[in-house]
Amino acid sequence: MNKDCLFCRIVAGEIPSTRIYEDAQVMAFRDINPAAPQHILLIPRRHIHSVAALEPGDAVLMGHLLLSARAVAEQEGFAETGFRCVLNTGEDGGQTVGHLHLHLLAGRQMHWPPG
Ligand code: 5GP
Ligand code: ZN
Repeated sequence: MNKDCLFCRIVAGEIPSTRIYEDAQVMAFRDINPAAPQHILLIPRRHIHSVAALEPGDAVLMGHLLLSARAVAEQEGFAETGFRCVLNTGEDGGQTVGHLHLHLLAGRQMHWPPG
């Protein structure tokens, strides 16, 4: 746990969040400022700064994170209608919280390219 990390503090329960899925490796909770009718963040419990900080040993964890996104999409009822997974990385990528998180967005038509 990184005491200065917002999402580590959410994992620890020091900051409240609306948890909708969790297991030993990952956790999913609702984004506080939703950009779509459904906006869920999936994170590894362990502190990893971003995709740019991933190591070969994180391969299974990241596969599990993606499969968890699918499980949440099914649980929340938008697996069939579709959704978008986003991993903002670094300054140009628009990352504002330095703990790797997958945005799971659904409930409206998404557009491409993103802004
Ligand atoms: P980023 O911009 O780093 O890709 O995404 C960070 C996301 O975290 C944003 O969508 C923002 O709304 C969300 N966020 C920031 N602070 C909090 C918080 O305290 N609780 C929750 N649930 N989401 C947060
Ligand atoms: Zn963290």
